[in-house]
This record gives sequence, structure tokens and C-alpha cells, in this order.
Amino acid sequence: MSDQQLEKLRHSTSHIMAEAVMRVFPDAKFAIGPSIEDGFYYDFDLPRPLTPEDLETIETEMRKIIKEGYPFEREEVSTEEAEEIFADQSYKLELIEDMPEGEVLSIYTQGEFTDLCRGPHVESTKQVHPRAFKLLNVAGAYWRGDEKRPMLQRIYGTAWPSPEELDAYLERLEELERRDHRRLGRELELYSIHEEAGAGLVHWHPKGGVIRTIIEDFWRREHYKAGYDLVYTPHIGRGQLWEDSGHLDHYRELMYPPIDIEGQEYFIKPMNCPFHIMIYKSKLRSYRELPLRWAELGTVYRFERSGVLHGLMRVRGFTQDDAHVFCAPDQIDEEISRVLSFSLFIWRSFGFDEYEIYLSTRPESYVGEPERWDQAQEALRRALEKEGLVYEVDEGAGAFYGPKIDISIKDALGRLWQCTTIQFDFNMAERLDLTFVAEDGQEARPYMVHRALLGSLERFLGILIEHYGGAFPVWLAPVQAVLIPITDRNIDYAREVESRLRAVGLRTEVDARGERMQAKIRDAQMQKIPYMLVVGDREMEADKVAVRLRTEEDLGPHSVEDFVAMAQEAIAEKRLN
Ligand SMILES: [Zn+2]
Ligand SMILES: [Zn+2]
Repeated sequence: MSDQQLEKLRHSTSHIMAEAVMRVFPDAKFAIGPSIEDGFYYDFDLPRPLTPEDLETIETEMRKIIKEGYPFEREEVSTEEAEEIFADQSYKLELIEDMPEGEVLSIYTQGEFTDLCRGPHVESTKQVHPRAFKLLNVAGAYWRGDEKRPMLQRIYGTAWPSPEELDAYLERLEELERRDHRRLGRELELYSIHEEAGAGLVHWHPKGGVIRTIIEDFWRREHYKAGYDLVYTPHIGRGQLWEDSGHLDHYRELMYPPIDIEGQEYFIKPMNCPFHIMIYKSKLRSYRELPLRWAELGTVYRFERSGVLHGLMRVRGFTQDDAHVFCAPDQIDEEISRVLSFSLFIWRSFGFDEYEIYLSTRPESYVGEPERWDQAQEALRRALEKEGLVYEVDEGAGAFYGPKIDISIKDALGRLWQCTTIQFDFNMAERLDLTFVAEDGQEARPYMVHRALLGSLERFLGILIEHYGGAFPVWLAPVQAVLIPITDRNIDYAREVESRLRAVGLRTEVDARGERMQAKIRDAQMQKIPYMLVVGDREMEADKVAVRLRTEEDLGPHSVEDFVAMAQEAIAEKRLN
């Protein structure tokens, strides 16, 4: 079935749902009911909140309507006629009122339900398969997305050509639910967000903190190896700086209101760039120093509407893994190539080796010299080709200040996450007047490149949780091994092994609770701990541990040294076990 046909099917199902709602709630007021990705919704104003039982009742009614086989009949009416037809439907009247004067409107009727709609629809309700649709959930939605207007009840549903396709979709939803980082983040005690502390502000718990520390340590070490220097910059800066950098012109809507300090305005930083430029400008730069590669784990704050905040994926405060490269014109090929291959190395280290890559080129209105744009675009293109990467060119889609490469990574469920950006900037270098003394003694303008790699640590943790379904590879697992004594007699031995494992750097815990062994194994599996080391009398006597994996695989008794070698190999190779 084509996308268009699918949309028609789903939208028609929303009309059928509306008719069913009308049968169940004769006083219902109808708002809008479009098709969306994988399904549809309809917004209703109803006398009471819907319950899960209501959804079942509505589904049953929908099956009846499908079986009754009503044709979808289109009719064209004048605004006046429409106003008469929808006289008791205030939301529809408001929609009609917004139509241009004299416009011919179309209405669609199936059975006893008539809707104001442009269409198209399927021919008959019979074309919707009675076992290939499902109502999924109810959510509050403001009329026209305006929090000052009435809150309506939105019923989400999905519809497919066949029951098999519906089942496959529902299974995928379940898989997404199992991997949902908000649920796993709570169950694995990785992070929390508190209404009383502020929406979109992330608290990293000790176990999330372990993961973050490992990521940061790895990130810093590899940046130094790759020739970057690390810098640290302030969290707030004077209004004048943001004015000069152009942020107040272009990004004001994502910045928080100013803070008054001794009569001067300061802003919380939405980006790190101007501060890196301050460091650049702290002295006269010579071509001999270039390139300069400066990276920072910089925490920034950006305004996001509360309605779009989502777990770790969309937050108000986050730590960018940012970098800026300042180089001479003859260095950009080498520099871009290095940034790109370094980014790919980092992604592969975290288990992501499929990407979708876009090269965005000069838009119609831009700043900077066209020759510089061409040179920059060529450098980006050559770097991609050198790596043998497949990419698409998004002609004219670059920002006004420079061309860029965007890399989306593909996760275990095949979803794409846009994370890495390698972005030239001809604007800020100009506005903040970056210069260096070239070989010929003349003042020249360096190239400036912004680079975010993982994007933000918060969102990256969210992506990692969902990619691995919480079962992190051994090098990232907050707890790598749990010792499970079979009886209280074995606790001392377990503690002794624990300290031997900790001494070689393995993150180890002893589960000394008075629970049965099976319960402890189950809990360790729930916590997705890579290794469970069961110790009973036999293990104690032989100075061994019985190794179980979180996959339920039983590897049997191993000496502590053998186990250490096994775990260290998995860590070095960044494996799951
Ligand atoms: Zn319609
Ligand atoms: Zn930047």
C-alpha cells in the first residue's frame, strides 16, 4: 500500500472513530482528526474523562460501523450551509469562521456522522479492516495547541492494511516501551527529573554518574590523543558579548532572560563558542600556532517549551561535547578530514556503525566570501569521500553562516538520531574579528569550525539506554559484577573476592541480602549486570566463582584470575560480555 493510501486509510479510520464516539457520547463536541505517522488521532470535548473501558466500547462500536459498510459521501456546501450543519459544534464553527469568505467547503458523511473535511477518504467503511486497527491511548490536548483554550481529549489510534501488520507494529511499540529510557532510567537508577526542581533539568544518580564519568574520561583521553586541547569556560556572559557574537540577533528565543549584575545584563550561555573565541583573542595569533583545536564539555541552557520536553532527549540544561577548530585556509582539508575520522572512531567505540550523512551547502542568502564557501564545501566533500562514506547533498540547506556535515547514527531499532555536526562559521569569525598573522606577515582571517560530536551527554545517555535496552557493554556497565553468596556462610568469602576484583578496577558489589539465590539472580538480571558470580561452599573451598551472564548463560566455575581475564578482555574490546 502506498503512503498516500495508508494516510487515507488512517484518516478514514479517525472518522469512523468519531462516529463511534458520537454513538457512545451523543453530546460530544468534535475538533480535528488527522492522520499522523503510523496512525491517527481525533480531539473530542467530552462530558467526562475517558477510561480504558471506554476505548474498548468505542472500538466495538467502530467494528459495527465498519461492518455496516457506509460509503464516505462528499458534498460541497457554502459557508452558510456549513454553519447550519454544524450549528451545535462550536469547534467546527470556529474552523468555518477561519475559512476565506465565499470559499466552497467540503463535508463528508458516513452513516449518521458528518464532518467538515477536505478528504480524501476510502470509499466505504468496509475498506477498513475490522481487526487491523487499535485505539492506543488518550492524552490531553489544548484546542489549537493554545494553553489558554479548552483542554480536549485526544484519542490516538493506529490502522493497518492487515492484522499481521498491526501485530508487527504493536510488537514494535512494546519493544520501544521495554527500551524506553525514562522507564529504564528509573529502574536502573540512572537519573531523575523533578517537577519541584524544574522541568527539563537532569539529576544524574550515582549509577548514571558512573556511566557519565567513563564516557567523559574516554572522551577526554581520546581528544588529547587526537591533538585537541581542553578548555573550560564560564556559564554566564555579558550581554555585550552575546550582542557582538550575534546570538542576541539569531538565538534570542532559545536564551533565558538576562540577569542583572551591577547594572549590567548577563545571559546564561546557550552555546560555548563566544568564550572559545575570547581565548583565541587573548593574544596575537601566528600561523605557526594553527591549527588550534579546543574542546569543552560545556554545560549550556536553552529554552524549550514545557510541552516538548521529553526525558533525556529534550531538556533545558545539557552538556555539549563541543569543539572549535581554528585553522589557516591551507589547513582545512586536513582538519576536516581529521574531525570526521575522529567522530567515526568515537561512534564505533560506542557500538554505532551505521550512519546517515548529509552535506548542506550554500543557501541563497549567506554571509562570507563565495570562494571561501566553495573551498569549505569541497573540504567537507573530500573528507566524506576519503572515508568512503555514502552521503546525500542537501543543496542550499546550509546555515547562512557556513556549510556543514550532519551525521545521524542508527540505533539497534533502526531509528536515526542526529548527533554530530561539523559546521563552518564565516559569520562569527567576521563579527568577532578573528585574525592571525600569516606567513607573509599580513593579517589574515582563520577558518572557524564548530563541532559537536555526541551532541549532549544527557541525550546521548538516553540514546545509549534505548540502543542497549539498558544492558550496557561491560566497559560502561555501572556495576560490572555482583557476587551472590548462596548462604550466610559464604558472605565473607564473597567480600574477599569483591575486594580482589575491586583492586583490579572491576566495579563489583556483594548481594548480602537474606533473599534466596534465585531471587538475587533475578534481581541482578533486572539490573542488567553483566556478570553474576555465585559463591557457595564448593566455590569457597576451591577459591572459585560460578559465572553466570545476564543472558542466562551459565559458564560454570572459574578461578578468580580466569574471571578477571575474561572481564578485562570484554572491557578492552567494549563487548557486551
Ligand atoms: Zn476526513
Ligand atoms: Zn560553536
